[in-house]
Amino acid sequence: MKTITKHYIDGSLVESHGREVMDSINPTNGQVIARVTLADEEDARRAIAAAKRAFASFGQTTKEERMEILRRLNQAVSARSDDLTETMVEEYGGVVQFASLIVQAGAGVFLSAEKALRELPLTRSWGKTTVTLEPVGVAGLISPWNANAFFLCMKLASAVAAGCTVVMKPSELSALQTRVWLECVHEAKLPKGLCNVVSGRGEVVGAELVRNPDVAKISFTGSAAVGRSIMRESAATMKRITLELGGKSPNILLDDADLKKAIPNAFIIGFLNNGQACVAGTRLLVPKSRFAEVKQVILDTVPAFPVGDPADPKTAVGPMVNQKQYQRVQSYIRRGIEEGAEVLVGGEGHPPGLESGYFVKPTIFVNVTNDMTIAREEIFGPVLSVITYEDEADAIRIANDTEYGLHAYVSGTDIQRARRVASQIQAGRVAINGMLDDQQAPFGGFKHSGVGREFGTFGIEAYLEPRAILE
Ligand code: NAD
Repeated sequence: MKTITKHYIDGSLVESHGREVMDSINPTNGQVIARVTLADEEDARRAIAAAKRAFASFGQTTKEERMEILRRLNQAVSARSDDLTETMVEEYGGVVQFASLIVQAGAGVFLSAEKALRELPLTRSWGKTTVTLEPVGVAGLISPWNANAFFLCMKLASAVAAGCTVVMKPSELSALQTRVWLECVHEAKLPKGLCNVVSGRGEVVGAELVRNPDVAKISFTGSAAVGRSIMRESAATMKRITLELGGKSPNILLDDADLKKAIPNAFIIGFLNNGQACVAGTRLLVPKSRFAEVKQVILDTVPAFPVGDPADPKTAVGPMVNQKQYQRVQSYIRRGIEEGAEVLVGGEGHPPGLESGYFVKPTIFVNVTNDMTIAREEIFGPVLSVITYEDEADAIRIANDTEYGLHAYVSGTDIQRARRVASQIQAGRVAINGMLDDQQAPFGGFKHSGVGREFGTFGIEAYLEPRAILE
């Protein structure tokens, strides 16, 4: 059994002032694997003070100095990618094939930020006017449990590129993963106080970051409900905010889609990260004319997406992160049945033989209408809703009939047509023919999926304040 009692403040691991102790549970078997001492407001204030002291010098660094730090962070995280992956599998239940990709993407984001910083002009001038982009100050970075190492890397990369110092508040469900990640950060030998990390509850440590006048900016990834409260609370100290919130992403199969490719892709997109992904494509929009065919290809595809031990490289879907998340997914499956959707695959309860962990049955509903709860609310589990549409205009209307707008997917053979459809979707990203990523492209949401963007120059600009000097 591991014990974690320290936070990372001012360049070293220090004993927690907070005394609350929480068990960390392996979601695959329900066993307690660690005891974690959670931070309190005082730990958060100490971390903020360290970041404030460090900002006095780090805020003055040059592009080259920050680029050098980003390269060091990339090396330090890359060197421990196997350990980070293993802990993500153990503590979170991420399937190993996905967890390792997530960790590699996290390490890579430092180099993407380095490239973006090199390309981003920090000074612009015309006539006798000079505009410089200045780091906003101490940033509070609050992240969720579903891809912990990736979010820590991504948020730190943009903030460092901009010249901000940070206090990071990972999810309290990610203490073991955070510890390994912290060892990487320590290895990268950053200036003292540049990166401080306190693991504690959102309503305690997170709330202190949002309230504290010495924090100039909050970058938050998490649920829309908490995002709304952060937006409200931040107003008192006029904080700059970036909010990366939930989604209910549509995946439009156009009528010329190759179902043999598009349906396996729909499984990957829908069940991504055990369905606990903000970008999961959980509404599969299919042409009414091909509905029977779609159902058959779905049934044929099920065996290729086995649920089970996340450490097994053949597993496609692992357990939910905890009992609460298991119950949440069960309640949505029940609600779908009550509202008249038909279970094509899966349903309520544990998959046979997997009763000891927080496993749910990957579930696919058909005969779903877009007004049903399962089509409107973010479930955050492997539950896919198949909705039929009449024609292209109807598909676009249904895709946009949601309060979210984080991501969307379009599959079709005629690429010009797929692009035309993509350009009418109200979402921060639309991927054509598959699950795609580009770490220079902006990531973030329209509507209730958030405010602002991360990644590339867009992500760095979110930590900068323009100052114009006029003569
Ligand atoms: P959550 O909102 O419950 O928690 C996210 C983080 O906020 C955690 O660190 C939590 O401790 C903290 N927090 C909670 N209450 C707080 C408060 N009052 N003040 C400050 N901080 C507080 O979300 P979660 O359950 O950890 O993660 C799942 C959610 O995250 C889903 O809705 C998912 O869509 C979203 N998400 C979004 C993205 C994105 O990039 N858009 C990525 C991943 C996850």
